[in-house]
Amino acid sequence: MIAYENYYDSHVHSGNSGDATEPVDAVCAAAVKRGLKGIAFTDHCDIDGGRHRCDRVRRAIVRDVAEARELYGDDLLISAGIELGEPHHNYALAGDIAGDPGLDFVIGSLHRLRDTDDFYYIDYENVDLDSLMQRYYEELYELVESGCFDVVGHINYQMRYMSAAARKTVDLSVYYGDLFEILKSAARQGKGIEINTSGLQRGLGEIIPSPEVIGLFRRAGGEIVTIGSDAHNSRNVGAEIETAMDCLKSAGFGQFAFFTGREARMMDII
Ligand SMILES: [Zn+2]
Repeated sequence: MIAYENYYDSHVHSGNSGDATEPVDAVCAAAVKRGLKGIAFTDHCDIDGGRHRCDRVRRAIVRDVAEARELYGDDLLISAGIELGEPHHNYALAGDIAGDPGLDFVIGSLHRLRDTDDFYYIDYENVDLDSLMQRYYEELYELVESGCFDVVGHINYQMRYMSAAARKTVDLSVYYGDLFEILKSAARQGKGIEINTSGLQRGLGEIIPSPEVIGLFRRAGGEIVTIGSDAHNSRNVGAEIETAMDCLKSAGFGQFAFFTGREARMMDII
């Protein structure tokens, strides 16, 4: 593995969404200690959770990042973002939330299909995997077509939670045709994808999406790729960023992206 100098983590959660415990400033302190140059907070705003909750989370992250910049702004580029869950389930609400001028970055993620639980809770031994996978790509296409995001979060998120037995029965390459159309749509709109390293930390043994899918994105004309740990605590901030850089480089990319003011800053992989 190559040692890189340019470390940015574009997917970190704080206590604001209730899905992590530590406040923004504590996570920033850990990031500085680890030698990161930038960090994007992307607290969960699930559209199915309703307007009130989304408003509370986005306001809190914008406020807390402004405060953290006072303390850590000289050492760390800090972005206020959200991870917008299922924007295609309510376009109007998603547009309102993502349109907050205080936000630097919006990840669009698919954690749950319509009328189902988060993939985290599914019993994969007792489900029609083919139908589940097909529905996942159908909804992912809808999400991407919504355009309500900067990068698509952790494509193939469901693989993170499938049992080893279920994973063996799924041949992802069967879906590469569908996925290529999804990636082409993102690239055509000037949108990106993320490399999420949580799969390495949580048992999958691989980044999400896989290196093959990152290569597909490049073939689809994609240019914007962010890298994020999906850390829910300061211990995991910046985890496995090197591995993600290696994969990005192997796929033929010379740069990665970090967002401020909803614009992609392109950084060299060095
Ligand atoms: Zn997520």
